[in-house]
Amino acid sequence: MSDPVANIKKISILKPKYIIFISVVLVILMILSSVYEYNKSKNEIYAILEEYSTSMIQTASMSSANSIISDREMESLLAQHLLSAAKNTARVDSLGLLNNDVLIKLAQENDVFRINVFDKNGSRVMTNNPGDIHSKENQKYSPVDYIQPILKGEKNEIVIGLKEARMEKGNRYAVAVRRPFNRGAIVVNLDAESYMGFRNRIGFGKLILDIGSATGVEYIILQNQKEILAANKNVNELPSYENDEGLKYVFETGNMIHRIVSFGGEEIYEAVSLFKIEDEKIGLFRIGVGMDGIIAAQDRMLRRAVLSSLIVIVISVIVLSVLISNQNYRIISDEFRKIKTFTGSVLENMSLAIITADDKGRIKIFNKSAFELFGIPYANFENKNANEIEKLPLFVKELLNEKNQVKNFEYEYEINSVKRSFLVNSAIVNNEDKSIDTYSLVIEDITEAKEIEIQLAQNERLAAMGGLASGVAHEIRNPLNTINMVAQRMNREYSGRLTSEDFDSLIEILGSESRRVDGIIEQFLNFARPAKLNMREFRISEFLDAVSKIAEVQSSEKGIKLVLNNAAEEMINADYQQLKQVFINLLRNAVEATDRGGTIEISYKRENYKNIFEVKDSGCGISAENLNKIFDIYFTTKSGGTGMGLSIVRQIILQHNGKIAAESDLGKGTKFTITLP
Ligand code: ADP
Repeated sequence: MSDPVANIKKISILKPKYIIFISVVLVILMILSSVYEYNKSKNEIYAILEEYSTSMIQTASMSSANSIISDREMESLLAQHLLSAAKNTARVDSLGLLNNDVLIKLAQENDVFRINVFDKNGSRVMTNNPGDIHSKENQKYSPVDYIQPILKGEKNEIVIGLKEARMEKGNRYAVAVRRPFNRGAIVVNLDAESYMGFRNRIGFGKLILDIGSATGVEYIILQNQKEILAANKNVNELPSYENDEGLKYVFETGNMIHRIVSFGGEEIYEAVSLFKIEDEKIGLFRIGVGMDGIIAAQDRMLRRAVLSSLIVIVISVIVLSVLISNQNYRIISDEFRKIKTFTGSVLENMSLAIITADDKGRIKIFNKSAFELFGIPYANFENKNANEIEKLPLFVKELLNEKNQVKNFEYEYEINSVKRSFLVNSAIVNNEDKSIDTYSLVIEDITEAKEIEIQLAQNERLAAMGGLASGVAHEIRNPLNTINMVAQRMNREYSGRLTSEDFDSLIEILGSESRRVDGIIEQFLNFARPAKLNMREFRISEFLDAVSKIAEVQSSEKGIKLVLNNAAEEMINADYQQLKQVFINLLRNAVEATDRGGTIEISYKRENYKNIFEVKDSGCGISAENLNKIFDIYFTTKSGGTGMGLSIVRQIILQHNGKIAAESDLGKGTKFTITLP
């Protein structure tokens, strides 16, 4: 069966590093999706901007073209206006009333910038701006170039149109008429500002302003290669035609372009298209649209990325902490379970009986040894009360119910009608409030140990007695020898000479009895001062063969079957001679106890690392009463017995740190079991 603890370990636990990894991946996915969304909306907005700017520029182009056409009409109106001012001046001139002051007045009345009067040679003779002294070297061109046809008398009037100012900066819109009597020319002009103002008031400039004021439109410009013709605001910071490849490209190819330019510190989406009227390239239309939409989309994306990342992080932290605490709990409960299982199996398999009960006396632990010790069949006693367990010894029930502290208490109790001794200790585990949590009993069967103890005490007593007695024995031996020698001598010297029959037999008895006493003393001395063990390794099979050969002489004489169950190739470490003595004594007793036709069996087995020998006979057996005494020195039931054989056997076995036990059924036979390490 597989180990459940190991199985739990195998369950793949979601490690924190995986969670962090998953969170990072999620955050990246969120950011990517926001960026994707942003790009999508950016592209959409660009498409809208393109569409919007294109349609704006188209509207502007169309309306401007229309307005330019009307502008041309308007220009002729303007020319008419200037010509009438010039003609007015000529009329005053014909009256001979013209001078600088009159010109100033006329310019004001007719709302014109400048009225210059030239003589036939092209020299300026009068002006409404007399402070301005012309020097021929500084002038950009000679007005004569324009008014030549008038001076020559070929034309009465000329619309010069827009031209650069002769002396100052800027453009002028000018017309000229012939002076009365062909005396020269009168030139009337408007400066550029008034000219543009005039046009803006009525012309396409107004339209540009209108389009320019539409929402989102930052600027709208109409420009030619040289200058800005019209704009809705001051757009000097935008690059001029010469420095702008894009503008050149549009002017040359006629293709529209869309691009992003910087204007007023902001990014502007600009559309540029060629402006044509009746196939004539007039200039370029540029319309700039603000990119607020894109910036807003960018903000939205940023906000969304940050927000979703935050949400993922918060969720991850929560999941992580839940998982970690879960795992900790699992690890702790695993450990707890392991400890519990471990302690449980240690307690379960201990050779000591362990019984544990809670404060209410309910049994929590009742280990294997407890069942065995009290000869109780296996059952589940968990949560039962001690009183419910029938075969439980009374002292155990009382202790479990009363929860008394006991230390090395000895109890005697009969189990299966055999008296046994128990050593009992208790242990109490208290709660924090000192109340009892669990009460445990540790019970040990000390019957055998006690027996050994008794035997050892007996041995000690015997040894002490032996020491004393052997001294006495020696002392007895000396006079005994003398008596024996005297008996022998008397036998030699007086045998046959003295006729009394009694004398011979008395002498004979004297000798044999003193020899018998000597034999007893010899045996006693052997027992009282046992020889030191001479340990060596030998093969058990060989040893038992040798022993059974000796026994066979006696057994075959008596017609008793001797069986040797001997297949033991194991070695044993013991005193060969003394162990032989043990078996000779046991086998002699067995032969003596068994009648003709009976059986004596010698066997060996190895169990729990111990050597177990058995000598079993089918003889007369031993009464229960005598069974306890057979190992006592001098105990015998035989008329010629010494009662020392089994005492010596036990002594030798104890010297080997072994033990010997006898079982017997009166009339059926006896079995001696020797256990040696
Ligand atoms: P002894 O043989 O001199 O009597 P032991 O110490 O050898 O002394 O034996 C003590 C007594 O134990 C014997 O007298 C006999 O009563 C009893 N005994 C020993 N072995 C056996 C046996 N195999 N069967 C029956 N009785 C036995």
